[in-house]
Amino acid sequence: MRVTPAYSRIQRFRLPRLCVAVIGSDPANLLERAESHVRDNPFLEFRLDYLSQPAAALPKLHHFLELHPEAMVIATCRRAVNGGKFKGSVQSQLDILTKAADAGFQLVDIEIQSAQELKRDQFTELKNRVGVILSFHDFKSTKKLEDTFAGMREFSADFYKVVTTATNLSDNVTMMKFLQSHSGEHEMVGLCMGEQGIISRVLGVRAGSIFTFGSAAPGEETAPGQITVGELRDTYRIEMVEASTQVYGVAGDPVSHSLSPIMMNAAFRRETVNAVYLALHAKSLKDLLACANNIPIRGMSITMPYKQEIVQALANSDPLTKQIGACNTVVRSADGKFYGFNTDVAGIVTPLEQRMNLSGKRILVVGAGGVARAAVFGLKAREAEVLITNRTPEKAQALARQAKAKYVKRADLAKLSFDVILNATPLGMNGDRHTPLEEKELNTHYVFDLVYTPAETKLMKIAKAKGLHVIPGLEMFVQQGARQFEIWTGKPAPIAEMGYVVSKALERQHPAEAAPPDEPHAPEKEIAQPAKKATVAKPAAQPVAKKVVARKPKRVVVKSPSKSSAKKTVRR
Ligand code: NAP
Repeated sequence: MRVTPAYSRIQRFRLPRLCVAVIGSDPANLLERAESHVRDNPFLEFRLDYLSQPAAALPKLHHFLELHPEAMVIATCRRAVNGGKFKGSVQSQLDILTKAADAGFQLVDIEIQSAQELKRDQFTELKNRVGVILSFHDFKSTKKLEDTFAGMREFSADFYKVVTTATNLSDNVTMMKFLQSHSGEHEMVGLCMGEQGIISRVLGVRAGSIFTFGSAAPGEETAPGQITVGELRDTYRIEMVEASTQVYGVAGDPVSHSLSPIMMNAAFRRETVNAVYLALHAKSLKDLLACANNIPIRGMSITMPYKQEIVQALANSDPLTKQIGACNTVVRSADGKFYGFNTDVAGIVTPLEQRMNLSGKRILVVGAGGVARAAVFGLKAREAEVLITNRTPEKAQALARQAKAKYVKRADLAKLSFDVILNATPLGMNGDRHTPLEEKELNTHYVFDLVYTPAETKLMKIAKAKGLHVIPGLEMFVQQGARQFEIWTGKPAPIAEMGYVVSKALERQHPAEAAPPDEPHAPEKEIAQPAKKATVAKPAAQPVAKKVVARKPKRVVVKSPSKSSAKKTVRR
């Protein structure tokens, strides 16, 4: 038998921050998974309740622990009535946890409800044998934490684990305040489950949670909203999150699909900024602002549906944001107030300016929503000739009037020609096989499709087949994010790195849709069907990316901004 120190109590400083919850369909499967994680993540929780006969697995687990003296392991056999899968009685649960202690587990997790059913001396005996995590789970809400904790404190445990469900962002604040107020006195573990609880999974350790849980792999979550240990470590850098870590995030509804956390956390890592960027699933703007004020969040990327609504809630915003009426970037200044910017404009204008001088260029914007507005005002500010078409003509007409652009009927498009056609509708997104325009309407040099999931849309394929130059929406995504990074940190953004991680993530999401090769500087003579009217100026030479990344972006290359444009954008 492995000798568990008799029992020298588990010290918080001995525990890693990240515990991998391991499940398996049978003991062999469980051990196989544990084996694949233990070297990188020696802190493991074995969910014995996922096995049909937990006790029968213990001899094999004992063998595993003898082979891996570096492992720090928790045995959990949560009862079904308390949200687990174990259907046995409390006495059988106690029996399994006791045997797990004898097999070499340093910690066992037991629910407060089970502890309350046991005789006091049974609980004491368990605690004398092994480190005890006394746990409480609320699968519906985050309520009455103090009352719950008062009941838990009646038991002397090594760790008190309180896990609730976030139904809004503010629940994370409640959890973190709770952790802060008790972590000085007790060894606490706390987090909120659910998609809206992701903040607490990352920032809980900053508020006093000794560790947090990650799933071993996608699809192996042991609790709603659990993220993988790989994401917690690589994307959110959980090991370095501390009190002085600045918090940023992308706020919207929904946001779970957003690639912004991958991109912005990679940028923070590359530039060694002590910051973490989270997905903030906000069900209302009020909830978002309450959470942002309490945490406090230093900056936010704002996405649908709050881009317009948030403008009224800001202390001030830059003139272009006011004109567009939509804000995608919020920064908290030293006075604690929120200021707004619109970096969608730079996201659209920069990739075009890298290829042409926009002054006098004839550009068709398809769509009249939020992003189309950013495109129209941004391009007008660069003295381009802007035309707008839209499914709902009245919206395009109104935008054309406001921006001093021209409205054009869809029926007239086949007769017209442009330097650039820009798709600002969602058509083509996520497997949608529609295109905003037909092949015969693409009389242009360039097609800029702002849709970036998948990396290559049907519109882009048609345009390429026609010999047109294509600018993928990924370039906008990276450029708007780069400006946000610059506004928040005052540093030039590591654009090559940002483009690389996003294109890789897109490849993982849409393996069938290969990302398009970059073609930013194809000379005009290569254009198969040149536009009838305007010509495209040779693009100005672009500076190379500021930092050379170890692995160059393979497919999509997004250029770094010039120093002057970076300076112009940075307002602190
Ligand atoms: P939005 O405000 O909802 O506007 C959508 C526009 O698309 C409206 O003009 C709408 O026309 C039109 N539209 C929607 N469905 C249509 C359909 N079935 N047929 C024809 N037109 C349709 O959205 P947004 O915020 O401007 O975003 C538009 C797209 O831009 C997004 O879907 C996204 O793919 C892309 N985007 C890209 C980035 C990036 O970084 N690359 C960033 C943000 C957004 P009506 O006026 O008739 O409703």
